[in-house]
Amino acid sequence: MDFRLDGYCGLFCGACPVMLGTSVGVEDNPCHGCKSDLMAAGRHCATCGIKACARGRGYEFCYECPDMVNCEQLQKFIADSKWPYHRGVLKNMEMIRREGVSKWLEAQGKRWQCANCGAAHSWWDETCPRCGGAVLNYQADL
Ligand SMILES: [Zn+2]
Repeated sequence: MDFRLDGYCGLFCGACPVMLGTSVGVEDNPCHGCKSDLMAAGRHCATCGIKACARGRGYEFCYECPDMVNCEQLQKFIADSKWPYHRGVLKNMEMIRREGVSKWLEAQGKRWQCANCGAAHSWWDETCPRCGGAVLNYQADL
């Protein structure tokens, strides 16, 4: 089954701990990403209103929507202090719009990779899950 690492909202699923756990076979509630056919049951993304809205309107990303600037749902999502990495989605969508999704995915793959050993790490990680070297968490991007 295919992984899809681009979220409708502009999140990079490849830095999600659930996704990372799935990719190495240790996640018991696996997810293959926002636009994939396998969502982790009971987690936010399985019932995400942003995703439902974008799908319903036929968009690949929220930035395609003329109502985005006034979208209460997206604003709430971005401002949610429980998930501060959400604040990066506008910047992400700006790059997707400008350079295309494949370039963005490539850049994000590198961004969330340990410079020392190449292992992928999550939004939250300050040390590499494989080699223990220092990595930059979401705060570096805000
Ligand atoms: Zn490492």
